[in-house]
Amino acid sequence: MIKLLLLALLFFLGYSFFQALFPRRRDQKPPANRSQNGEQMVQDPQCGTYLPISDALSANIQGRQYYFCSRKCRKQFKKQT
Ligand SMILES: [Zn+2]
Repeated sequence: MIKLLLLALLFFLGYSFFQALFPRRRDQKPPANRSQNGEQMVQDPQCGTYLPISDALSANIQGRQYYFCSRKCRKQFKKQT
């Protein structure tokens, strides 16, 4: 069992070394919170829906800016806080 662990460790070290030598560019993709036309996407904290910022209802609650998909969500969220 220890041998297996050592092998795994060696594999991990080798893998890290390999990655250090050949850094991948995979992490440099554009942020996921932007839609295709470049418009900023916001999340409704009440129901979790993502929507373009131009379609969102904004509200300033306790000094923070929030965006909602509907007045219903905004009302419910205000009730909770
Ligand atoms: Zn909502």
